[in-house]
Amino acid sequence: MSDFNNDRRKLIKNIVIAGFGIHLVGCSSKPSTTSEQTEKPQVLPTDPIPEIVDKIEAEVIENNVTYFTKLDESFEKLATYFNLHTTKSPKIIALVNNSKGVSEAIRYAKINKLPVAVKSGGHSFEQFSSNIDGLVINLSLLNTFEWKENHQLKAGPACLLKEVYEETLPKGRILPAGSCATVGLGGLVLGGGYGLFSRKYGLTCDHLISATFVDGNGEIHEVDKHHELLWALRGGGNGNFGVVTSMTFETQPIPTKFETRKFKAYKLDPIRAKQIFEQWFTLAKNLPESYFSAFVLNGNALTILVTFYEGYSPELEILEQALTPITDKQTKSTTTDIAKQLTYYYGIQNPLYFKNASAGYYNEMTDIEGCIDAVLERVVNTKGLIYQVNTLGKNINSPLFEKRSAYPHRSYEYLSELQSYWNEGQDAKRDRLLSAFEDIQQLFYDNGNHAQYRNYPSLGFPDWANSYYGENLTRLKKIKLKYDPKNTVRHDQSIPTS
Ligand SMILES: Cc1cc2nc3c(=O)[nH]c(=O)nc-3n(C[C@H](O)[C@H](O)[C@H](O)COP(=O)(O)OP(=O)(O)OC[C@H]3O[C@@H](n4cnc5c(N)ncnc54)[C@H](O)[C@@H]3O)c2cc1C
Repeated sequence: MSDFNNDRRKLIKNIVIAGFGIHLVGCSSKPSTTSEQTEKPQVLPTDPIPEIVDKIEAEVIENNVTYFTKLDESFEKLATYFNLHTTKSPKIIALVNNSKGVSEAIRYAKINKLPVAVKSGGHSFEQFSSNIDGLVINLSLLNTFEWKENHQLKAGPACLLKEVYEETLPKGRILPAGSCATVGLGGLVLGGGYGLFSRKYGLTCDHLISATFVDGNGEIHEVDKHHELLWALRGGGNGNFGVVTSMTFETQPIPTKFETRKFKAYKLDPIRAKQIFEQWFTLAKNLPESYFSAFVLNGNALTILVTFYEGYSPELEILEQALTPITDKQTKSTTTDIAKQLTYYYGIQNPLYFKNASAGYYNEMTDIEGCIDAVLERVVNTKGLIYQVNTLGKNINSPLFEKRSAYPHRSYEYLSELQSYWNEGQDAKRDRLLSAFEDIQQLFYDNGNHAQYRNYPSLGFPDWANSYYGENLTRLKKIKLKYDPKNTVRHDQSIPTS
Protein backbone atom coordinates (compact mmCIF):
# COMPACT_ATOMS: atom_id res chain seq x y z
CA MET A 1 0.00 0.00 0.00
CA SER A 2 1.40 3.47 -0.88
CA ASP A 3 2.15 6.14 1.74
CA PHE A 4 -0.86 8.06 0.51
CA ASN A 5 -3.21 5.12 1.09
CA ASN A 6 -1.65 4.44 4.49
CA ASP A 7 -2.15 8.08 5.46
CA ARG A 8 -5.74 8.12 4.30
CA ARG A 9 -6.49 4.93 6.18
CA LYS A 10 -4.93 6.43 9.31
CA LEU A 11 -7.09 9.53 8.88
CA ILE A 12 -10.30 7.58 8.41
CA LYS A 13 -9.41 5.59 11.52
CA ASN A 14 -8.89 8.83 13.41
CA ILE A 15 -12.22 10.17 12.21
CA VAL A 16 -13.90 7.06 13.60
CA ILE A 17 -12.00 7.24 16.89
CA ALA A 18 -12.77 10.92 17.26
CA GLY A 19 -16.46 10.17 16.87
CA PHE A 20 -16.56 11.80 13.45
CA GLY A 21 -18.36 8.61 12.42
CA ILE A 22 -19.23 8.70 8.73
CA HIS A 23 -22.58 7.00 8.44
CA LEU A 24 -22.87 4.57 5.62
CA VAL A 25 -26.58 3.91 5.39
CA GLY A 26 -28.32 6.69 3.53
CA CYS A 27 -25.02 8.25 2.35
CA SER A 28 -26.10 8.43 -1.21
CA SER A 29 -23.87 10.35 -3.56
CA LYS A 30 -26.89 12.49 -4.61
CA PRO A 31 -28.87 13.37 -1.48
CA SER A 32 -32.30 14.90 -1.47
CA THR A 33 -32.14 18.66 -0.95
CA THR A 34 -35.49 18.51 0.82
CA SER A 35 -35.74 17.40 4.41
CA GLU A 36 -37.87 14.41 3.49
CA GLN A 37 -35.28 11.79 4.39
CA THR A 38 -36.90 9.58 6.99
CA GLU A 39 -34.45 6.74 7.37
CA LYS A 40 -32.60 7.00 10.66
CA PRO A 41 -28.86 7.00 9.96
CA GLN A 42 -26.80 4.18 11.34
CA VAL A 43 -24.34 5.40 13.94
CA LEU A 44 -20.92 3.86 13.82
CA PRO A 45 -19.51 2.45 17.04
CA THR A 46 -16.63 4.57 18.38
CA ASP A 47 -14.33 1.55 18.49
CA PRO A 48 -12.46 1.63 15.18
CA ILE A 49 -12.71 -2.06 14.34
CA PRO A 50 -10.88 -2.83 11.08
CA GLU A 51 -14.01 -3.88 9.15
CA ILE A 52 -15.59 -0.47 9.76
CA VAL A 53 -12.50 1.42 8.65
CA ASP A 54 -12.42 -0.86 5.58
CA LYS A 55 -16.06 -0.14 4.85
CA ILE A 56 -15.66 3.65 5.13
CA GLU A 57 -12.55 3.55 2.98
CA ALA A 58 -14.38 1.56 0.34
CA GLU A 59 -17.33 3.98 0.45
CA VAL A 60 -15.16 7.09 0.12
CA ILE A 61 -13.03 5.62 -2.68
CA GLU A 62 -16.03 4.38 -4.61
CA ASN A 63 -17.97 7.62 -4.51
CA ASN A 64 -15.22 10.31 -4.55
CA VAL A 65 -17.67 12.29 -2.41
CA THR A 66 -20.00 11.38 0.43
CA TYR A 67 -22.87 13.71 1.34
CA PHE A 68 -24.23 14.43 4.82
CA THR A 69 -27.47 16.14 5.74
CA LYS A 70 -28.67 17.37 9.11
CA LEU A 71 -30.30 13.99 9.67
CA ASP A 72 -26.90 12.34 9.85
CA GLU A 73 -25.43 11.84 13.31
CA SER A 74 -21.99 12.98 12.17
CA PHE A 75 -23.23 16.18 10.50
CA GLU A 76 -22.71 18.41 13.56
CA LYS A 77 -19.20 17.10 14.13
CA LEU A 78 -18.23 17.69 10.51
CA ALA A 79 -19.70 21.18 10.82
CA THR A 80 -17.44 22.12 13.77
CA TYR A 81 -15.42 25.33 13.37
CA PHE A 82 -12.72 27.00 15.46
CA ASN A 83 -14.77 30.13 16.16
CA LEU A 84 -17.77 29.18 18.32
CA HIS A 85 -19.07 32.78 18.27
CA THR A 86 -20.23 32.52 14.66
CA THR A 87 -22.77 29.80 14.01
CA LYS A 88 -23.85 28.85 10.52
CA SER A 89 -25.34 25.61 9.31
CA PRO A 90 -25.26 24.37 5.71
CA LYS A 91 -27.91 22.17 4.18
CA ILE A 92 -25.38 19.63 2.94
CA ILE A 93 -21.76 18.77 3.71
CA ALA A 94 -19.83 17.05 0.91
CA LEU A 95 -16.90 15.08 2.31
CA VAL A 96 -14.59 14.65 -0.66
CA ASN A 97 -11.80 12.22 -1.38
CA ASN A 98 -10.17 13.87 -4.40
CA SER A 99 -10.56 16.55 -7.10
CA LYS A 100 -13.17 14.44 -8.88
CA GLY A 101 -15.25 14.44 -5.71
CA VAL A 102 -14.98 18.24 -5.50
CA SER A 103 -16.01 18.50 -9.15
CA GLU A 104 -19.03 16.25 -8.56
CA ALA A 105 -20.05 18.23 -5.46
CA ILE A 106 -19.85 21.55 -7.32
CA ARG A 107 -21.93 20.22 -10.22
CA TYR A 108 -24.46 18.84 -7.77
CA ALA A 109 -24.65 22.24 -6.00
CA LYS A 110 -25.15 24.05 -9.30
CA ILE A 111 -28.02 21.79 -10.33
CA ASN A 112 -29.66 22.40 -6.97
CA LYS A 113 -28.82 26.13 -6.92
CA LEU A 114 -26.88 25.86 -3.67
CA PRO A 115 -24.01 28.25 -2.85
CA VAL A 116 -20.71 26.46 -2.20
CA ALA A 117 -18.34 27.20 0.71
CA VAL A 118 -14.98 25.50 1.16
CA LYS A 119 -13.51 24.22 4.43
CA SER A 120 -9.87 23.23 4.99
CA GLY A 121 -8.87 23.90 8.63
CA GLY A 122 -12.06 25.75 9.64
CA HIS A 123 -10.23 28.72 11.25
CA SER A 124 -11.87 31.55 9.30
CA PHE A 125 -12.59 34.35 11.82
CA GLU A 126 -16.01 34.94 10.21
CA GLN A 127 -16.64 31.30 9.31
CA PHE A 128 -16.48 32.00 5.57
CA SER A 129 -15.83 28.28 5.17
CA SER A 130 -19.45 27.59 6.09
CA ASN A 131 -22.79 28.98 4.98
CA ILE A 132 -26.48 28.97 5.79
CA ASP A 133 -28.51 26.37 3.88
CA GLY A 134 -25.88 25.89 1.17
CA LEU A 135 -23.35 23.17 0.45
CA VAL A 136 -19.98 23.00 2.21
CA ILE A 137 -17.13 21.09 0.62
CA ASN A 138 -15.23 19.53 3.51
CA LEU A 139 -11.62 18.83 2.47
CA SER A 140 -10.49 17.16 5.70
CA LEU A 141 -9.55 13.90 3.95
CA LEU A 142 -7.12 15.83 1.72
CA ASN A 143 -4.39 16.08 4.33
CA THR A 144 -1.44 14.09 3.06
CA PHE A 145 2.16 15.04 2.22
CA GLU A 146 4.42 13.90 -0.59
CA TRP A 147 8.04 15.02 -1.05
CA LYS A 148 9.19 15.87 -4.55
CA GLU A 149 12.61 16.66 -6.05
CA ASN A 150 14.60 19.63 -4.72
CA HIS A 151 12.93 19.56 -1.30
CA GLN A 152 9.57 20.49 -2.79
CA LEU A 153 6.57 19.44 -0.73
CA LYS A 154 3.16 18.51 -2.09
CA ALA A 155 0.50 18.98 0.59
CA GLY A 156 -3.26 18.69 0.88
CA PRO A 157 -5.15 21.87 1.83
CA ALA A 158 -6.44 20.33 5.07
CA CYS A 159 -2.95 19.74 6.47
CA LEU A 160 -2.76 21.66 9.75
CA LEU A 161 0.23 23.89 10.47
CA LYS A 162 1.50 21.64 13.26
CA GLU A 163 1.37 18.70 10.84
CA VAL A 164 3.34 20.76 8.32
CA TYR A 165 6.04 21.49 10.92
CA GLU A 166 6.07 17.86 12.11
CA GLU A 167 6.53 16.72 8.50
CA THR A 168 9.21 19.23 7.44
CA LEU A 169 11.41 19.93 10.49
CA PRO A 170 12.76 16.36 10.95
CA LYS A 171 13.90 16.58 7.31
CA GLY A 172 15.82 19.79 8.02
CA ARG A 173 13.33 21.89 6.04
CA ILE A 174 10.64 24.44 6.84
CA LEU A 175 7.67 25.92 5.02
CA PRO A 176 7.50 29.48 6.39
CA ALA A 177 3.95 29.79 7.69
CA GLY A 178 1.90 30.98 10.66
CA SER A 179 2.28 29.78 14.21
CA CYS A 180 -1.11 28.46 15.38
CA ALA A 181 -1.09 24.63 15.43
CA THR A 182 -4.55 23.94 14.06
CA VAL A 183 -4.83 26.56 11.29
CA GLY A 184 -5.33 24.83 7.91
CA LEU A 185 -2.71 25.25 5.20
CA GLY A 186 -5.45 25.83 2.57
CA GLY A 187 -6.95 28.99 4.01
CA LEU A 188 -3.60 30.35 5.20
CA VAL A 189 -1.86 30.13 1.79
CA LEU A 190 -4.81 31.37 -0.23
CA GLY A 191 -4.95 34.58 1.84
CA GLY A 192 -1.17 35.13 2.18
CA GLY A 193 0.27 33.48 5.30
CA TYR A 194 2.87 35.19 7.45
CA GLY A 195 4.85 34.24 10.53
CA LEU A 196 8.22 34.13 12.25
CA PHE A 197 10.19 33.41 9.06
CA SER A 198 8.40 35.71 6.56
CA ARG A 199 10.72 38.72 6.68
CA LYS A 200 13.55 36.52 5.41
CA TYR A 201 11.74 34.11 3.07
CA GLY A 202 8.46 35.81 2.13
CA LEU A 203 4.89 34.73 2.78
CA THR A 204 3.62 31.16 2.63
CA CYS A 205 1.87 31.95 -0.66
CA ASP A 206 5.24 33.00 -2.13
CA HIS A 207 6.37 29.37 -1.75
CA LEU A 208 3.42 27.97 -3.75
CA ILE A 209 4.71 26.70 -7.12
CA SER A 210 1.80 24.63 -8.42
CA ALA A 211 -1.70 23.56 -7.47
CA THR A 212 -4.68 21.50 -8.50
CA PHE A 213 -7.78 23.67 -8.69
CA VAL A 214 -11.43 22.88 -9.35
CA ASP A 215 -13.27 25.91 -10.70
CA GLY A 216 -16.84 27.07 -10.08
CA ASN A 217 -18.05 25.00 -13.05
CA GLY A 218 -16.50 21.81 -11.70
CA GLU A 219 -13.60 21.82 -14.21
CA ILE A 220 -10.26 20.55 -12.88
CA HIS A 221 -7.10 22.59 -13.69
CA GLU A 222 -3.45 21.78 -13.12
CA VAL A 223 -1.98 25.18 -12.34
CA ASP A 224 1.73 25.96 -12.58
CA LYS A 225 4.01 28.95 -12.83
CA HIS A 226 2.67 30.48 -16.04
CA HIS A 227 -0.96 30.16 -15.14
CA GLU A 228 -2.87 33.31 -14.24
CA LEU A 229 -4.67 31.29 -11.57
CA LEU A 230 -1.41 30.74 -9.68
CA TRP A 231 -1.06 34.51 -9.36
CA ALA A 232 -4.62 34.64 -7.94
CA LEU A 233 -4.16 31.70 -5.57
CA ARG A 234 -1.14 33.40 -4.00
CA GLY A 235 -3.10 35.57 -1.59
CA GLY A 236 -6.36 36.05 -3.50
CA GLY A 237 -7.95 32.60 -3.52
CA ASN A 238 -9.89 32.11 -0.25
CA GLY A 239 -13.25 30.63 -1.30
CA ASN A 240 -13.42 33.14 -4.17
CA PHE A 241 -13.74 31.21 -7.42
CA GLY A 242 -13.05 27.51 -6.81
CA VAL A 243 -11.43 24.89 -4.65
CA VAL A 244 -7.73 24.06 -4.31
CA THR A 245 -7.29 20.33 -3.76
CA SER A 246 -3.50 20.06 -3.71
CA MET A 247 -0.54 22.45 -3.47
CA THR A 248 3.20 22.08 -4.08
CA PHE A 249 5.65 24.33 -2.25
CA GLU A 250 9.29 25.20 -2.22
CA THR A 251 10.72 24.75 1.28
CA GLN A 252 13.62 26.43 3.08
CA PRO A 253 16.44 25.07 5.27
CA ILE A 254 15.69 25.28 8.99
CA PRO A 255 17.88 27.58 11.07
CA THR A 256 20.36 26.02 13.47
CA LYS A 257 19.63 28.34 16.38
CA PHE A 258 16.57 30.29 17.55
CA GLU A 259 16.69 33.15 20.05
CA THR A 260 14.07 35.30 21.75
CA ARG A 261 13.82 38.44 23.81
CA LYS A 262 10.73 39.41 25.80
CA PHE A 263 9.96 42.76 27.38
CA LYS A 264 7.01 42.94 29.78
CA ALA A 265 5.25 45.90 31.35
CA TYR A 266 2.35 45.79 33.79
CA LYS A 267 -0.42 48.10 35.04
CA LEU A 268 0.09 50.47 32.15
CA ASP A 269 -1.76 53.72 31.83
CA PRO A 270 -2.38 55.08 28.30
CA ILE A 271 0.55 57.53 28.50
CA ARG A 272 3.10 54.86 29.36
CA ALA A 273 1.59 52.46 26.82
CA LYS A 274 2.08 55.13 24.14
CA GLN A 275 5.64 55.86 25.25
CA ILE A 276 6.64 52.20 24.90
CA PHE A 277 4.64 51.76 21.70
CA GLU A 278 6.39 54.72 20.04
CA GLN A 279 9.84 53.41 20.90
CA TRP A 280 9.05 49.92 19.63
CA PHE A 281 7.24 51.16 16.53
CA THR A 282 10.12 53.44 15.51
CA LEU A 283 12.83 50.82 15.98
CA ALA A 284 11.35 47.35 15.33
CA LYS A 285 11.11 47.78 11.57
CA ASN A 286 14.90 48.27 11.42
CA LEU A 287 15.57 44.78 12.78
CA PRO A 288 17.30 42.51 10.21
CA GLU A 289 15.36 40.09 8.02
CA SER A 290 15.75 37.04 10.28
CA TYR A 291 13.91 38.93 13.03
CA PHE A 292 10.23 39.03 13.90
CA SER A 293 8.72 41.24 16.55
CA ALA A 294 5.26 41.72 18.03
CA PHE A 295 3.80 44.36 20.36
CA VAL A 296 0.99 42.63 22.29
CA LEU A 297 -1.08 44.88 24.54
CA ASN A 298 -3.59 42.81 26.53
CA GLY A 299 -5.67 45.29 28.54
CA ASN A 300 -3.07 47.09 30.64
CA ALA A 301 -0.40 44.34 30.38
CA LEU A 302 2.18 44.40 27.60
CA THR A 303 4.48 41.80 26.09
CA ILE A 304 6.94 42.69 23.35
CA LEU A 305 8.36 39.62 21.65
CA VAL A 306 11.47 39.56 19.47
CA THR A 307 12.58 36.33 17.74
CA PHE A 308 15.66 35.82 15.56
CA TYR A 309 17.79 33.06 14.11
CA GLU A 310 20.86 34.56 12.44
CA GLY A 311 22.62 36.11 15.39
CA TYR A 312 22.56 39.20 17.56
CA SER A 313 22.55 42.54 15.71
CA PRO A 314 23.30 46.21 16.40
CA GLU A 315 19.62 46.97 15.65
CA LEU A 316 18.55 44.65 18.47
CA GLU A 317 21.04 46.31 20.80
CA ILE A 318 19.44 49.68 20.03
CA LEU A 319 15.95 48.26 20.66
CA GLU A 320 17.05 46.68 23.95
CA GLN A 321 18.61 49.93 25.11
CA ALA A 322 15.39 51.79 24.35
CA LEU A 323 12.97 49.27 25.88
CA THR A 324 14.84 48.03 28.97
CA PRO A 325 14.53 51.26 31.03
CA ILE A 326 10.82 51.67 30.27
CA THR A 327 9.62 48.06 30.73
CA ASP A 328 9.31 46.06 33.97
CA LYS A 329 10.85 42.70 33.07
CA GLN A 330 13.17 41.43 30.34
CA THR A 331 13.95 37.80 29.49
CA LYS A 332 16.10 35.96 26.92
CA SER A 333 16.25 32.44 25.53
CA THR A 334 18.42 30.53 23.06
CA THR A 335 17.80 27.06 21.69
CA THR A 336 18.88 24.74 18.92
CA ASP A 337 15.66 22.72 19.21
CA ILE A 338 13.59 24.62 16.61
CA ALA A 339 10.75 22.07 16.63
CA LYS A 340 10.22 22.44 20.38
CA GLN A 341 10.51 26.23 20.18
CA LEU A 342 7.76 26.45 17.55
CA THR A 343 5.37 24.53 19.81
CA TYR A 344 5.52 27.49 22.27
CA TYR A 345 3.60 29.53 19.69
CA TYR A 346 1.02 26.84 18.84
CA GLY A 347 -1.71 28.55 20.93
CA ILE A 348 -4.99 27.00 22.04
CA GLN A 349 -6.04 24.14 19.78
CA ASN A 350 -9.69 23.69 20.79
CA PRO A 351 -12.55 25.79 19.40
CA LEU A 352 -13.08 29.10 21.22
CA TYR A 353 -15.55 31.96 21.52
CA PHE A 354 -13.76 34.93 20.00
CA LYS A 355 -13.86 37.97 17.75
CA ASN A 356 -10.60 38.79 16.00
CA ALA A 357 -9.94 41.05 13.03
CA SER A 358 -7.22 42.87 11.15
CA ALA A 359 -6.74 46.40 12.54
CA GLY A 360 -4.82 47.85 9.62
CA TYR A 361 -1.40 47.95 8.01
CA TYR A 362 0.94 50.86 8.73
CA ASN A 363 4.43 52.21 8.13
CA GLU A 364 4.98 55.40 10.13
CA MET A 365 3.59 56.90 13.34
CA THR A 366 2.06 59.56 11.10
CA ASP A 367 -0.20 56.83 9.63
CA ILE A 368 -1.93 56.40 13.00
CA GLU A 369 -1.23 59.58 14.95
CA GLY A 370 -4.83 60.73 14.54
CA CYS A 371 -6.21 57.74 16.46
CA ILE A 372 -3.51 55.84 18.34
CA ASP A 373 -3.98 57.73 21.64
CA ALA A 374 -7.68 56.89 21.70
CA VAL A 375 -6.99 53.29 20.62
CA LEU A 376 -4.42 52.70 23.37
CA GLU A 377 -6.67 54.31 25.97
CA ARG A 378 -9.57 52.04 24.98
CA VAL A 379 -7.39 48.90 25.06
CA VAL A 380 -5.68 49.72 28.38
CA ASN A 381 -9.09 50.32 29.96
CA THR A 382 -10.75 47.19 28.52
CA LYS A 383 -9.61 44.07 30.35
CA GLY A 384 -9.33 41.15 27.93
CA LEU A 385 -9.06 43.21 24.76
CA ILE A 386 -5.83 42.56 22.83
CA TYR A 387 -4.18 44.93 20.35
CA GLN A 388 -1.28 43.26 18.57
CA VAL A 389 1.08 44.78 16.02
CA ASN A 390 3.49 42.53 14.09
CA THR A 391 6.51 43.37 11.98
CA LEU A 392 6.32 42.77 8.22
CA GLY A 393 8.70 44.34 5.67
CA LYS A 394 12.10 43.13 4.37
CA ASN A 395 11.68 40.27 1.83
CA ILE A 396 7.89 40.22 2.07
CA ASN A 397 8.29 43.38 0.02
CA SER A 398 10.30 41.72 -2.78
CA PRO A 399 9.34 43.04 -6.27
CA LEU A 400 9.44 39.46 -7.59
CA PHE A 401 6.92 38.24 -5.01
CA GLU A 402 4.79 41.32 -5.66
CA LYS A 403 4.66 40.56 -9.40
CA ARG A 404 3.87 36.89 -8.88
CA SER A 405 1.04 37.20 -6.36
CA ALA A 406 -2.35 38.74 -5.70
CA TYR A 407 -1.38 39.60 -2.09
CA PRO A 408 -1.42 43.41 -2.30
CA HIS A 409 -0.04 44.83 0.96
CA ARG A 410 3.67 44.19 0.59
CA SER A 411 5.02 47.68 1.20
CA TYR A 412 3.81 47.91 4.80
CA GLU A 413 6.16 47.50 7.76
CA TYR A 414 3.47 46.50 10.26
CA LEU A 415 0.21 44.53 10.41
CA SER A 416 -2.07 44.90 13.40
CA GLU A 417 -4.87 42.78 14.81
CA LEU A 418 -7.58 43.11 17.45
CA GLN A 419 -8.47 40.04 19.51
CA SER A 420 -11.05 39.27 22.18
CA TYR A 421 -11.92 35.96 23.85
CA TRP A 422 -14.61 34.84 26.29
CA ASN A 423 -16.20 31.65 27.57
CA GLU A 424 -19.65 30.22 26.98
CA GLY A 425 -22.25 32.09 29.02
CA GLN A 426 -20.07 35.19 29.58
CA ASP A 427 -22.51 37.39 27.70
CA ALA A 428 -21.75 40.58 29.65
CA LYS A 429 -18.02 40.16 29.06
CA ARG A 430 -18.63 39.42 25.37
CA ASP A 431 -20.77 42.53 24.95
CA ARG A 432 -18.24 44.73 26.75
CA LEU A 433 -15.40 43.39 24.58
CA LEU A 434 -17.34 43.65 21.33
CA SER A 435 -18.38 47.21 22.07
CA ALA A 436 -14.76 48.30 22.62
CA PHE A 437 -13.72 46.25 19.57
CA GLU A 438 -16.16 48.04 17.29
CA ASP A 439 -15.21 51.45 18.69
CA ILE A 440 -11.58 50.79 17.85
CA GLN A 441 -12.43 49.55 14.35
CA GLN A 442 -14.27 52.82 13.82
CA LEU A 443 -11.34 54.87 15.15
CA PHE A 444 -8.99 53.28 12.63
CA TYR A 445 -11.50 53.58 9.81
CA ASP A 446 -12.15 57.27 10.51
CA ASN A 447 -8.39 57.80 10.58
CA GLY A 448 -8.13 56.42 7.04
CA ASN A 449 -6.51 53.06 7.90
CA HIS A 450 -8.45 50.97 5.40
CA ALA A 451 -5.97 48.33 4.11
CA GLN A 452 -6.72 45.00 5.82
CA TYR A 453 -5.34 41.44 5.81
CA ARG A 454 -7.70 39.03 4.01
CA ASN A 455 -6.88 36.24 6.46
CA TYR A 456 -8.06 38.43 9.37
CA PRO A 457 -11.47 39.34 7.94
CA SER A 458 -14.29 41.25 9.57
CA LEU A 459 -17.86 41.79 8.49
CA GLY A 460 -17.34 45.25 10.02
CA PHE A 461 -15.08 46.50 7.19
CA PRO A 462 -17.26 48.84 5.08
CA ASP A 463 -15.20 48.63 1.85
CA TRP A 464 -13.86 45.12 2.41
CA ALA A 465 -13.03 44.17 -1.22
CA ASN A 466 -10.70 47.15 -1.70
CA SER A 467 -9.38 46.76 1.85
CA TYR A 468 -8.30 43.16 1.20
CA TYR A 469 -7.20 43.29 -2.42
CA GLY A 470 -6.36 46.92 -3.19
CA GLU A 471 -5.27 47.48 -6.77
CA ASN A 472 -5.42 43.73 -7.53
CA LEU A 473 -9.21 43.67 -7.15
CA THR A 474 -9.93 44.42 -10.83
CA ARG A 475 -7.72 41.56 -12.05
CA LEU A 476 -9.23 39.20 -9.47
CA LYS A 477 -12.74 40.10 -10.65
CA LYS A 478 -11.77 39.09 -14.21
CA ILE A 479 -10.53 35.74 -12.90
CA LYS A 480 -13.77 35.31 -10.97
CA LEU A 481 -15.77 35.93 -14.16
CA LYS A 482 -13.69 33.45 -16.10
CA TYR A 483 -13.65 30.57 -13.60
CA ASP A 484 -16.88 31.04 -11.66
CA PRO A 485 -19.19 33.24 -13.76
CA LYS A 486 -22.34 32.06 -11.98
CA ASN A 487 -20.86 32.89 -8.56
CA THR A 488 -21.34 29.33 -7.29
CA VAL A 489 -18.37 29.39 -4.90
CA ARG A 490 -19.06 32.25 -2.56
CA HIS A 491 -19.32 33.62 0.97
CA ASP A 492 -20.17 36.98 2.51
CA GLN A 493 -16.89 38.56 1.38
CA SER A 494 -15.91 36.58 -1.73
CA ILE A 495 -14.80 38.42 -4.89
CA PRO A 496 -17.90 39.78 -6.63
CA THR A 497 -18.55 39.12 -10.34
CA SER A 498 -19.14 42.80 -11.05
C1 LIG B 1 -5.88 31.07 16.23
C2 LIG B 1 -5.50 31.60 14.89
C3 LIG B 1 -4.17 31.89 14.63
C4 LIG B 1 -3.79 32.39 13.38
N1 LIG B 1 -2.48 32.65 13.13
C5 LIG B 1 -2.11 33.11 11.89
C6 LIG B 1 -0.75 33.38 11.59
O1 LIG B 1 0.15 33.20 12.41
N2 LIG B 1 -0.45 33.84 10.34
C7 LIG B 1 -1.41 34.04 9.39
O2 LIG B 1 -1.07 34.45 8.27
N3 LIG B 1 -2.71 33.80 9.65
C8 LIG B 1 -3.07 33.33 10.88
N4 LIG B 1 -4.39 33.10 11.15
C9 LIG B 1 -5.40 33.38 10.12
C10 LIG B 1 -5.52 32.21 9.17
O3 LIG B 1 -4.52 32.33 8.18
C11 LIG B 1 -6.90 32.21 8.49
O4 LIG B 1 -7.88 32.08 9.47
C12 LIG B 1 -6.98 31.12 7.46
O5 LIG B 1 -7.86 31.52 6.43
C13 LIG B 1 -7.47 29.82 8.07
O6 LIG B 1 -7.39 28.79 7.14
P1 LIG B 1 -8.22 27.44 7.41
O7 LIG B 1 -8.00 26.55 6.26
O8 LIG B 1 -7.94 26.94 8.79
O9 LIG B 1 -9.69 28.01 7.48
P2 LIG B 1 -11.04 27.74 6.69
O10 LIG B 1 -12.05 28.34 7.61
O11 LIG B 1 -11.20 26.32 6.32
O12 LIG B 1 -10.88 28.61 5.37
C14 LIG B 1 -10.60 29.99 5.43
C15 LIG B 1 -10.99 30.65 4.10
O13 LIG B 1 -10.27 30.07 3.03
C16 LIG B 1 -11.15 29.43 2.10
N5 LIG B 1 -10.56 28.13 1.76
C17 LIG B 1 -10.06 27.22 2.63
N6 LIG B 1 -9.57 26.18 1.95
C18 LIG B 1 -9.74 26.44 0.64
C19 LIG B 1 -9.42 25.72 -0.55
N7 LIG B 1 -8.79 24.53 -0.49
N8 LIG B 1 -9.77 26.25 -1.75
C20 LIG B 1 -10.38 27.47 -1.83
N9 LIG B 1 -10.70 28.18 -0.72
C21 LIG B 1 -10.38 27.67 0.50
C22 LIG B 1 -12.47 29.29 2.83
O14 LIG B 1 -13.55 29.30 1.94
C23 LIG B 1 -12.46 30.50 3.75
O15 LIG B 1 -12.88 31.64 3.06
C24 LIG B 1 -4.78 32.60 12.39
C25 LIG B 1 -6.12 32.29 12.66
C26 LIG B 1 -6.48 31.79 13.90
C27 LIG B 1 -7.92 31.47 14.17
